Amino acid sequence: MPLSKYHQKRNFQITPEPEGKQAGESAHPLRFVVQKHDATRLHFDFRLELDGVLKSWAVPKGPSLNPKDKHLAMMVEDHPLDYRNFEGVIPEGNYGAGTVMVWDRGTFHALETSDPVESAQILRKQLKQGNVKVHLLGKKLKGEFALVRIRAFKGNSWLLIKHNDEFAHHKIEHEDLSVLSGKSLKEIAQTNVSDAK
Ligand code: MN
Repeated sequence: MPLSKYHQKRNFQITPEPEGKQAGESAHPLRFVVQKHDATRLHFDFRLELDGVLKSWAVPKGPSLNPKDKHLAMMVEDHPLDYRNFEGVIPEGNYGAGTVMVWDRGTFHALETSDPVESAQILRKQLKQGNVKVHLLGKKLKGEFALVRIRAFKGNSWLLIKHNDEFAHHKIEHEDLSVLSGKSLKEIAQTNVSDAK
């Protein structure tokens, strides 16, 4: 079950995160989210929709628009699609405790096609091969990005790399603010936890 690890790690009586379930095949454009997560260590979570879940990587340094940067991305458990809307505070004592911001959001497709079904076929193969190439249409992140598995580390370690295209080196606007609420991490943290659900 794709979401069993996600469910095992969380108590949905306590955390405001969505319980979610795997969604069906989608004919709509595939969606992505990048969340900024002020947990034990501040990091970004990079999530791509595929097969009804969000394939997820934790990126300590976050995405970069400089093609020379190769930022480590640790693959983590699949998250439910609903997670792309999650912004709020995971209470102390829970897995991933801390504040979560929807840092960027949008749609994406494979480099070869903008068709969602064909994109999913291509990406499924690339994910297995450890070499995923996507074209992002976000508010902050645009253009081509690659996720490349580091073979030496077998399994979870990948690199997130911006391709050198027209969007490379762009300055990211509102770098510190949510694209969902316009809030900073601090402002999200101050929002009542019960409001976050
Ligand atoms: Mn995280």
